[in-house]
Amino acid sequence: MIPGPIEFEPEVLRAMGVATTSHVAPNFIEVFGNTLELMKKIWMAPNGQPFVVTGSGTLAMDMAAANLIEKGDSALVISTGYFGERFKDILDRYGANTTLLKASIGGVVRLETIEEELQKKQYKVLTFTHVDTSTGVMVHPEPISRLATKYKVLSILDGVCSVAGEEIRQEEWGIDIVLTGSQKAIGVPSGLALLVASQRAIKICENRKTPVCNYYADWSNWLPVMRAYEERRPSYFGTPSVNLILALETSLKIICEEGIVKRVRRHQYLANAFRAATSSIGLEILPEVNSIAANTLTAVYYPKGIDGVLLRAKMGDSDVIIAGGLLPEIKATYFRIGHMGSVSSNDLIAVLGALERALFELGHPFKLGKGLQTFQDELLKAN
Ligand code: PMP
Repeated sequence: MIPGPIEFEPEVLRAMGVATTSHVAPNFIEVFGNTLELMKKIWMAPNGQPFVVTGSGTLAMDMAAANLIEKGDSALVISTGYFGERFKDILDRYGANTTLLKASIGGVVRLETIEEELQKKQYKVLTFTHVDTSTGVMVHPEPISRLATKYKVLSILDGVCSVAGEEIRQEEWGIDIVLTGSQKAIGVPSGLALLVASQRAIKICENRKTPVCNYYADWSNWLPVMRAYEERRPSYFGTPSVNLILALETSLKIICEEGIVKRVRRHQYLANAFRAATSSIGLEILPEVNSIAANTLTAVYYPKGIDGVLLRAKMGDSDVIIAGGLLPEIKATYFRIGHMGSVSSNDLIAVLGALERALFELGHPFKLGKGLQTFQDELLKAN
């Protein structure tokens, strides 16, 4: 139950186990082409340019920055945690002149603050993290991307912990890049960097004055390959991860079968019920208010007097693996539970049961079963 890698559907894992074909075999070309088409559906970006490259989510961030930043460009980073700061580091590496707007722990940066900053100078790009996995804080992307459009700034959304779990309408909201990694709500073992770029972003990259300072991530290497696969033609730049892409197509089909809108709603009502349950047993979540709490994971403070290491070990004894904190300033004070992908109410009932037993044994004062009861009540209300 950590927030990625998540648990994967058996069909996805089976797809990884088949005999590896050539990356230009007709059957693989069809799979890759279909994968790119399915991505545009899930990202809600019918005119976007998808990229699938071997690497993790960080490579997708790196690719966005490498292709859009030229030395001296101004970049605005809106940070709600650890991964916002990582984006600043990446942009700096390509010579950007970066301004960091950092939210207080558990909070978000106010829209007014973002707009004031955008009025100060012409930024080229703005980055924001949909769900920062270190804090469990969710940022509503639409108002921020609207501001980016208003001030003619390219917008890059880190959707590593949100794509296929939280609502994203890339084209309608005017976001230039939405990126993720395969091991999260997309539901495929780690190893693929996934990104959809707007035609505007592609054009800006094509009109660069200086070459992209990253050979592997350079879109001019990958663009002909992605276009060829979509047109069902063979092409090569770097050998694609054939079996991971077979698994990705399988998972994207599963996502589309459920329907992306329905899938997002499932994440929302399960997360809501889970938050209500943890609150009913006296636990406090890290996000300041529920309206900015993620639906893909929940970050929860350890209650007073509870040893976090012991709590996690006790849950492990019940076969429930959860994650500790990640934000360096408060790392030892909270834990994180992922609930994205194919997660069901039954999974969360098992998690709550294990959490309650562990807390009870460690002496946390609450009525055993209260969290489970709240969870059940919330589910009944939602259905
Ligand atoms: N951004 C966010 C929001 C993440 O959660 C992560 C991974 N946890 C990353 C970026 C980096 O992705 P990866 O670990 O796949 O490189």
